[in-house]
Order: sequence, then structure tokens, then C-alpha cells
Amino acid sequence: KFITFEGIDGAGKSTHIAYVAGLLRARGMDVVVTREPGGTALGEKLRDLLLHEPMHLETEALLMFAARREHLAQVIEPALACGRWVISDRFTDASFAYQGGGRKLSLEKLAVLENWVHPHLQPDLTLLFDVPLEVARARLDAARAPDKFEQEKADFFAATREVYLARAKQFPQRFRLVDSTQSIEKIQKELEELLSSI
Ligand code: C5P
Repeated sequence: KFITFEGIDGAGKSTHIAYVAGLLRARGMDVVVTREPGGTALGEKLRDLLLHEPMHLETEALLMFAARREHLAQVIEPALACGRWVISDRFTDASFAYQGGGRKLSLEKLAVLENWVHPHLQPDLTLLFDVPLEVARARLDAARAPDKFEQEKADFFAATREVYLARAKQFPQRFRLVDSTQSIEKIQKELEELLSSI
């Protein structure tokens, strides 16, 4: 099975990845935890460029999908093919949300790239960690140094969140919305219930 974690910066998804991986391993699953952009040696180099190098919006989208192509070929597809579980910290929904929503690249162009890079594969489950913008920003200010993306204005994150929520509505079979303003313990309980049904 393929599980993706999504949400705007500061939504708290990374806190819950290790927990979910632990839950699945306790159930005897063989779990691979990976992330995007990144997940491979080349992908991590591209991530470094994407996070720190100013570039044209379409270059950014193309590099995201180039990194994803490599990630699928080297990590995701081989793991799924031998029955392992893959947990990815972000996947294509993040491209629609950030490059499409936040940066306003046409969603049609992104769909072309999606159909090129993974015409058939979709996550079995996408956990969307959702918080209001003020909560996300407060967490970021407290937690870590801003990078290129995090310096963007609130309307960038508002648009990003909007596309995430729209995709959750569009693909209700695979999306589960997690209210990330709740306590960590409460979210963990919710995740445990969610995962017992897949
Ligand atoms: O999830 P993580 O915090 O590792 O993401 C790193 C940065 O990359 C984030 O600040 C996020 O805003 C950005 N990003 C992006 N477009 C994507 C994926 C991530 O702008 N498709």
C-alpha cells in the first residue's frame, strides 16, 4: 500500500509520520518511509536546488516531477512491487497545492505532468493534515528557520490550502482529512482508527 502525507508547512504532518510507520510495523508490515522532493540521491540534490535556488515557476514544476520520476523508479515502484508499504512525506498533491495553488501554475499543465510521470499509480490513502493559517504560521515561527518557501506571504499558503482541500473533496476515496489543531494524542488515536480499516 502507498500512503502519502500532505498539508501546508506547519500543519504538523512530520510529527505523525514516525507514529504511523511504527503502528504499521507493529502490525508486521514492511514499511519504507520516504519524502518529496527528495527520496533518492538525485532527488535530494534537486530538493536542495528547489528550496534554495530562485527559478522560473515552470522550471520548479518540471524539477519537482523529474525528482518524482526518479523517486518512483528507484524507491516507490520497486517497494510496492514486492509488497512493502510506502509512506511518502508529500507526493503529487503537493505539486497541485504548491505549484498550482500557491504559485498559480495552471492545474492543466500539472495534470499533463502527472499523466506523464505516473499515469496509473495513485496513493491508496492520503492523509491531509489541515490547520488554519494562523496556527501553521505560529508553529513555524516557533519551530524552525524559514526557507525560500516559508517566507511566502499568507495568501500563498491560503491558496495552497484551498487546493489541498479541493483535492480532498475531488478524491474522497483516498483522502482523509485530519484536523491538525487537535492534540497529538487525539490525532494519534484518530490515525490508529483510520489505519485499522485499510
Ligand atoms: O514537507 P517539507 O517541509 O519537507 O517541504 C519542504 C518545502 O518544499 C516546503 O517549504 C514546501 O513549502 C516546499 N514544497 C513545494 N512544492 C512541493 C513540495 C514542497 O513548494 N511540491
